Amino acid sequence: MTVITRFAPSPTGDLHIGGARTALFAWAYARNQKGKFILRIEDTDLDRSTPEAIEVIINGMNWLGLHHDGPIHYQTDRMDRYKAVIQSLLENNQAYPCYSSKEELDALRESQMKEGLKPKYDGRWRPEPGKKLPEKPLDIHPVIRFRNPSNGHVSWNDRVKGDITFNNEELDDFIISRSDGTPTYNFCVVVDDWDMNITDVIRGDDHVNNTPRQINLFKALNAPVPNYAHLSMILGSDGQKLSKRHGSVSVLEYQKKGYLPQAIKNYLARLGWSHGDDEIFSMVQFSQWFDLGNITSSPAQFNDEKLNWLNNQYIREMDDESIFNLMIDFFKFNDIDELSKQKLIKGIALYKERVNNLVELSNQILFIVEQPHIMPELIQKYLDADRLNLVKGLNSLLDEVKWEDDEINSLIKKFVAANQLKFPLIAMPLRVILTGSDHTPSIASIMSIIGREETKQRILKYIN
Ligand code: GLU
Repeated sequence: MTVITRFAPSPTGDLHIGGARTALFAWAYARNQKGKFILRIEDTDLDRSTPEAIEVIINGMNWLGLHHDGPIHYQTDRMDRYKAVIQSLLENNQAYPCYSSKEELDALRESQMKEGLKPKYDGRWRPEPGKKLPEKPLDIHPVIRFRNPSNGHVSWNDRVKGDITFNNEELDDFIISRSDGTPTYNFCVVVDDWDMNITDVIRGDDHVNNTPRQINLFKALNAPVPNYAHLSMILGSDGQKLSKRHGSVSVLEYQKKGYLPQAIKNYLARLGWSHGDDEIFSMVQFSQWFDLGNITSSPAQFNDEKLNWLNNQYIREMDDESIFNLMIDFFKFNDIDELSKQKLIKGIALYKERVNNLVELSNQILFIVEQPHIMPELIQKYLDADRLNLVKGLNSLLDEVKWEDDEINSLIKKFVAANQLKFPLIAMPLRVILTGSDHTPSIASIMSIIGREETKQRILKYIN
């Protein structure tokens, strides 16, 4: 049997990091099993679903390279099918209309809570042999409820959490169609998973409570029940559920900050799954190694530092020109000519090991093509008369040197030796004048990249 998994987001907001991890695991399992991975947009909640959110999901999945098989399925395209299934359940007495008003149900809940009971629909409209149902009110469009088995239990062997059992008595006759005729989440998911031949449902463990209801519905429909794997949630560094309070949580935000999709995927793969001590691996390796059995059932903790470390590892492995091409979007200027491009590529080579992401990289190498802005504190700290005098001395020698890293470097070293200086006395003011920062790679390399004339011009602004 072909394994078929799916990612089934509700398009009500961003593609969250947790959602992306779910998608990644469902994708990897399908690839591992030489199966199929389906993308299904669960957009039946018309009040909360938006076209923008659908676009964000699709773009995010493309950016991550989590390609789905076949077309994208939209639940709103499947309304006729849902209605037909509801009709058949009604005809088979597996579902029934319920005319209880909201006020009635509120009162029921309140009285159950007062008695210390768990609130639950009491089945007042559930037809039973010999039972007299209430008088149908004329002013109420009924909801349709599923006739859940009233006794026994429902169990499954969760691929992550192990055996889980619910008593049917705990479960309501849940609503499958609202009074306006729209089908509900728990119902549509089952019909879709059935129609799309889903063999393995991999999703967040916030759905564990829905699963027994869904399994009962599969059984009522005589449909094969898929395997379930519920992934534990992702926690922030403080041990609380990962949320906006913890900083970036949407895939789009990471994209905008210049994280590489390979690094994000590699990082997400390790959230709750491991393969020995392997930390850096390709998606081909991941999908070869991935097995639901290796997923931990305890919550995973999100760690920005580790993500930054991984992203840095991927950036340093990438060739400089490819980074340049990716970074075009991040540079804050247009029209980069060929000479500037070549300089920037050299700057990328020089700086890429020092950054967490491409936005940082672009900020750090901007000085190559734009006059740096120098903060007053740095001027005060490094550009005093004595140091500027040394810079002036060095500047007068710059025309004599061949403009290459090594030559410039030995010129500075000779200058330092001749004047019996400590190296930073000349290197720090040069750093600040040329780059606007006192933290840089080798100053000779920087001078070599920006060029002799530009180096002299920048220096001339500070000496007379
Ligand atoms: N649409 C649901 C959600 O976004 C997921 C449904 C499922 O995976 O079964 O939480």
